[in-house]
Amino acid sequence: KREENDMSRELQNMPEKVNKYVLDGTILVNCILLLCHISFGVLFYLYDAPILFVFNCLSIIIYTLSFEILRRKKKRTYVFVVFIEIFIFMILSIVCLGWEYGFQHYCIGFVASMVFSDYFVEHNRIVKNRTILLGACNVIIYIVLRFWTYHNPPIYVLKEGYIANIFYVGNTVVGFAFLIMYLAIYSATVMRMESELYDMANKDHLTGLYNRRQMINILKSFIEDDATEKFAIAMLDVDYFKNINDTYGHDAGDEVLKSLANILNDEKSRDDKFQPGRWGGEEFLVVLGSYSGNKQESTERLETLRKRISDNTMIYCGNKIKVTVTIGLTFCEDGKTLDEIIKEADAKLYEGKENGRNQVVC
Ligand code: GH3
Ligand code: MG
Ligand code: MG
Repeated sequence: KREENDMSRELQNMPEKVNKYVLDGTILVNCILLLCHISFGVLFYLYDAPILFVFNCLSIIIYTLSFEILRRKKKRTYVFVVFIEIFIFMILSIVCLGWEYGFQHYCIGFVASMVFSDYFVEHNRIVKNRTILLGACNVIIYIVLRFWTYHNPPIYVLKEGYIANIFYVGNTVVGFAFLIMYLAIYSATVMRMESELYDMANKDHLTGLYNRRQMINILKSFIEDDATEKFAIAMLDVDYFKNINDTYGHDAGDEVLKSLANILNDEKSRDDKFQPGRWGGEEFLVVLGSYSGNKQESTERLETLRKRISDNTMIYCGNKIKVTVTIGLTFCEDGKTLDEIIKEADAKLYEGKENGRNQVVC
């Protein structure tokens, strides 16, 4: 129940996490936009294009103020301001300088930005009609501007012809860079969320070990895969764990479970065929993939683990806490089902509890 609550709380936090990733990415985008406009401003000043210079100064102010808009997390306002700015800047630049300067390539970045904002800023899992409409307008404006520049001379003709080439290269790179950048932010976010969802679904929230679900999957794959060698499973249960909770509090109990998980993880790091997981409550399951008929070796391995746990002292709020575990060990020969294997390990564990605990029963 507790685990389910943790999981649903984490799932509720997901949009919050996506927001944070997107906000980080958007701040980076804003820095790039600001730098572009500072460079444009300098160039337009040097090459005497006053209309464009003045608009660029305005853009620099807009992008500087945008940091504040982003700090206040007003993403919708930010997207609106940026869209309008890029759109006007693109049209103005094409009308003033003509087609050869490559400003039309901002259309590519523009469409990418629109779809991106639909997906993340508005949290829509579908592309909005508004986006399709704006996208279509974008294409129409692109075509209209192409014809317009074909029939009308630009307002400014910069004396140095090579400048057009520099602008063309720069604008093309920036236009496509936006498309690539949005795709990169999108895929990085999806990958991060995917890995978090994987952990949420397959790992135990408290200890970080694999949860029961994943342990069952592992067991099933061992049972179904004919190629795997024989394997063993060990069911571990903390002795008198209720007493720990009652004496030191539930949080202390949680810390004990975490320290046990650390020991199990440490064992795993020494031997990759040792696969521990949290079976539930204060019970852990270990799959020993390396068992190949040598029962004594597996028993000794778990005896060492049992001793390591009983020798371990955990300090919690100044209290020295020691725990022991009882372990039920089962060897999985051909033909046994998952239920049978688990039942057998449970029975051995119960036997160990009856016989005084802190022991391995096989
Ligand atoms: P035994 O030696 O027979 O195993 O005794 P025990 O006290 O360990 O067994 P019992 O099953 O009576 O108690 C298990 C306790 O573990 C009960 C439950 O409150 C506690 N527990 C289960 N999950 C958690 C958890 O995630 N955190 C903490 N702190 N306690 C838990
Ligand atoms: Mg128990
Ligand atoms: Mg117990």
